[in-house]
Amino acid sequence: MKNKLIFATGNPNKVRETGQILKDYMEVISMKDIGATEDIPETMPTLEGCALQKARYLAKNYQVDCFSEDTGLEVDALDGAPGVITARYAGAAKDANANMALLLKNLEDKTDRSAQFRTIIALILDGEEHLFEGIVRGRIAPQKMGTGGFGYDPVFIPEGHEATFANLPAEVKHGISHRSRALAKLVAFLETRK
Ligand code: IMP
Repeated sequence: MKNKLIFATGNPNKVRETGQILKDYMEVISMKDIGATEDIPETMPTLEGCALQKARYLAKNYQVDCFSEDTGLEVDALDGAPGVITARYAGAAKDANANMALLLKNLEDKTDRSAQFRTIIALILDGEEHLFEGIVRGRIAPQKMGTGGFGYDPVFIPEGHEATFANLPAEVKHGISHRSRALAKLVAFLETRK
């Protein structure tokens, strides 16, 4: 029987998609499946801190193997902002259009528009903590372009492309994205544990 790995997220789509990717190694199950319905605190000042905070919370309170994921958009000319507050950049409503509008406004007088998406995965397996990082470099577009994807996709142009993530086919985005790169490292690690 495959070992169970709890994904510290409230998003069922993420659980399903990640479950597919990890299916040869672990059975990925949701917090709801173990009766964890509370919001886990995310109060640390870094992506690494928040990811570990979520995984440690589940490991401590439910005695399970688990992992969490945290992503931020880091803009060089803004000293790495919005970073850990990417989802709430323009306020608690987590509104993607408001977030992008604020980002474009804050970059109005900047010539350097280079940026990166960075994902940290924190895994707690057999009581040991492991971090995996995935980065995609790129730049912030002059304005929103494209309707695909989600979040900041309409304003992020990945390196080596002229189109935004929202304009590129989903397979192209998934082939190079921060999230898929971090997950690939997690998969490589689980492979060594097989
Ligand atoms: P989360 O850690 O997945 O909740 O993401 C944090 C923030 O980054 C949210 O505002 C997301 O919309 C944004 N974000 C994460 N991944 C992507 C992506 O692949 N494209 C665009 N925005 C993203």
